[in-house]
Amino acid sequence: MRKTNLAIQLTAAALLTGWLSVPAPVQGAEKVKVVSVNYPLHYFAERIGTDSFSIDYLVALDLDPAFWEPGDEALMAFQKADIVIRNGADYAKWMNVVTLPSTTKVDTSRAFSDRLIKVEGGAHSHGDGAVHSHAGTAFTTWIDFSQAAMQAEAIAKRMTRNAPSEAKQIGENLAGLKADLGELDEEMKSLGKKLKGQSFVVSHPIYQYWSRAYGIKIDSLEWEPEMKLGEKEIADLKAVISKSKPQWMIWEGEPTKENVEALAQLGLSSLVFSPAANRPEEGDWLEVMRQNIKNLEEVLLR
Ligand SMILES: [Zn+2]
Repeated sequence: MRKTNLAIQLTAAALLTGWLSVPAPVQGAEKVKVVSVNYPLHYFAERIGTDSFSIDYLVALDLDPAFWEPGDEALMAFQKADIVIRNGADYAKWMNVVTLPSTTKVDTSRAFSDRLIKVEGGAHSHGDGAVHSHAGTAFTTWIDFSQAAMQAEAIAKRMTRNAPSEAKQIGENLAGLKADLGELDEEMKSLGKKLKGQSFVVSHPIYQYWSRAYGIKIDSLEWEPEMKLGEKEIADLKAVISKSKPQWMIWEGEPTKENVEALAQLGLSSLVFSPAANRPEEGDWLEVMRQNIKNLEEVLLR
């Protein structure tokens, strides 16, 4: 009798402190564990997945997922996942040097692997100071929104394989996401036409697919939005200005006030078109893309 009372008290205490999790765990089959190498793919997975999936994002928020490397805990989660969503296009090179079960990996850019762009590039460092290079394959595949749709399809296909009973819901979720991506694609195509003849400087070599898809002429620098511009940077920019006569610099993130002013002195206005490779501080991937398009529309108002 005493024992039972104690058990009841313990249960009550556990409920109060949240020790016992409520609601109770899902009955029957365990959830399918999904992890992605970057935020756009994670966002697509969240849009497409159903309650049968547990979808985790493990990339540190202050780093570029392309050059991030997992710590022990994250690595273990990647190894234990049922589905590892990769970008392909030689993204997240850490995957080449660790062992992950080959059956769990999904290369989401496979459908257009014959259209990947080769790039040259020098070594430079991002905000965290780690030196890296973009030489090899251009990897910012998802800001060509028709390519993003193919990446979403690859995710849906794989999720359906792991949870066939969810096929209908996954299909509906995919259709909703593709409608949003289709809208972005149409808007960008129409903007691309209106911007024909203009040339843009871009702050980082990540806009290759975007430029190809929407016919936007670009010259790439290897700058960071928050970097201090030195003589070399200004000389590089002046060379681009005399060659292509751009009026705008497109930044991958919010530039410092100093940088905006330095460019203004050379006759260049600044706008942000962020790939949202990592989770934004506010909003989600789709909201960032819609804001990007609004930012670009500013060009037409000049
Ligand atoms: Zn870089």
